[in-house]
Amino acid sequence: MFTKLYIFFLIFLNLLYAEPVVKISTSAVSIDKFKMGYLIDESENMSFDQVQKQKFIQGSNNLTLGTTANVTWVKIILLNETDSSKELFLHNAVAYHAESIHFYEVEDNTLINDIRFEPRHYVNTEEMYGAEALYTLTLKPGQTKSIYMQSHFLAYQLIELSIYDQKASTEDLVHRFMPIVILFSILATLALYYFILYISAGYKEYIYYSLYLISSSVFLAYCYGMVSHYFHIYGEWGLKLTALAIVSPIFLALFIKSIFKTKENYRLQDHFINSIIVIFSLTYLYSFFEYYQAIEFTSILFVYFLIVMLGVSISLYRKNAPMIKYFFIAHIFYLIFSLIAILFYNSGIEYNYLTSHSIAIGTMFEALILGFLVSYRIRLLESDNKEKEKIISIDAMTSLYNKSHFEERLEKELLIHRRDKSGLTLMIIDIDYFKQYNDTYGHLEGDKTLIRVARSLQNSLKRPSDMAFRVGGEEFAILCTGMEDNMAVSFANKLRTNIENLKIKHKKSSVYKYITVSIGLYTVPHHYMSSQDQIYRHADSALYEAKSTGRNRVVAYEE
Ligand code: GH3
Ligand code: MG
Ligand code: MG
Repeated sequence: MFTKLYIFFLIFLNLLYAEPVVKISTSAVSIDKFKMGYLIDESENMSFDQVQKQKFIQGSNNLTLGTTANVTWVKIILLNETDSSKELFLHNAVAYHAESIHFYEVEDNTLINDIRFEPRHYVNTEEMYGAEALYTLTLKPGQTKSIYMQSHFLAYQLIELSIYDQKASTEDLVHRFMPIVILFSILATLALYYFILYISAGYKEYIYYSLYLISSSVFLAYCYGMVSHYFHIYGEWGLKLTALAIVSPIFLALFIKSIFKTKENYRLQDHFINSIIVIFSLTYLYSFFEYYQAIEFTSILFVYFLIVMLGVSISLYRKNAPMIKYFFIAHIFYLIFSLIAILFYNSGIEYNYLTSHSIAIGTMFEALILGFLVSYRIRLLESDNKEKEKIISIDAMTSLYNKSHFEERLEKELLIHRRDKSGLTLMIIDIDYFKQYNDTYGHLEGDKTLIRVARSLQNSLKRPSDMAFRVGGEEFAILCTGMEDNMAVSFANKLRTNIENLKIKHKKSSVYKYITVSIGLYTVPHHYMSSQDQIYRHADSALYEAKSTGRNRVVAYEE
């Protein structure tokens, strides 16, 4: 009885302390998730013999161990359960930013092989596959081997391992960087687009946004190993690129200053944004002398940056700044993902897809929403300009285009006419006995009538190319294209009867009991080159004739 219990107890103990074994049991090998042992070497100088005697903590193949764990060890036990010999490839995907990665292969308690990579100093980098360091081993059927890996990082400790056969290994090397390449391409294209916009339109926010995109996308490309993978950059230069993380908040701050015009409109917020620019610029300069210290500074400064930007966006939100809600949403996303990233790299939270990619996701969100902010602003500027144009070209009383717009338009239409020979008609419309109308009903009533006549003219136009203008006190003009002479005359008569049909009483008029108009028109012949002046004079003389031959009629000018 007791012996049985004792055996169970031994089995239980064994389970508790059993070291995880990765069993190779299929012919194709592609293992992205497995259990292994790890330990943090606080002393940072344990020998391999000492390490072998240590108890390892059980963990998964992807780990984030924070900024204090500089030297860590990993132990993977592999067992080949198949009946064929296996060539296996242990991939370390984050080798590119390690100070060193050292693999040890142990068979029956004897070290049979080891290799040490020191990417920063280009030691054995010719044996690396871009960003990844691989360890290759062969397992005979039924054989067990242990692989130890020491990794030394200066900033934060990351472990990302996988076990592949030849085919899966090649595929991993080809495809692993595809997502970051796509992400980088999107951000870089956006950056180029806004750079071109800046060159053509000259708005400063475009260049700030473009520089922000460039700095954050290059930073991401480095962080994800893309730079090392494709360009085999591991040393000093790689570090210089990480320093771009320090400048991208500067560009973002300049962008916000320029788009919300904080200097003119929000003085207090502007001072806070300036503080970000100054502090980050100084830190960037400092990074040229004391790189690692500057980077450590940056994580603290980054929290300051997030808080200031949050404060600025909340206070601008409360002041109802235009478009602030887009920035607010963008910043909240950015804040959440940045906090996840900070926790991730400081090992506060678990390794998974979301946490390990939070910087990229956050940057992408922010970049796209800010892009939306810029396009929204373009739209505002455009409608602003259109609004201004309208104000200067429109007659306030009747809402028709005014005389100066008429002259502009006539000139344009004439140019089109010369090219297309599309036929251009000018009508000048004058209210009959309007002086008497004013004298009888008062000036105020006169104004109301002018407005009604103007509206009738406007409503009688059917084609979008036809335009009505107020060119004098009670004088209007109509420009239309594509009409023959008689067609123009009947159209003018339609305008005239429409006004008659308004039935605005005019008891002092000698032509009719209601308000009437006289219309003089001139259609420029297809083959004819006319000047603006000449056209106007012809239409005006037709109007004169209409007036002198009885009023309330249409007269077309004849050569
Ligand atoms: P006709 O054209 O038939 O020869 O006679 P008319 O009385 O209309 O003559 P004329 O063109 O000389 O007079 C134009 C009048 O229009 C003079 C002025 O009292 C009136 N008028 C011009 N501008 C305005 C305006 O903005 N409001 C009002 N109420 N009246 C205006
Ligand atoms: Mg007149
Ligand atoms: Mg008149």
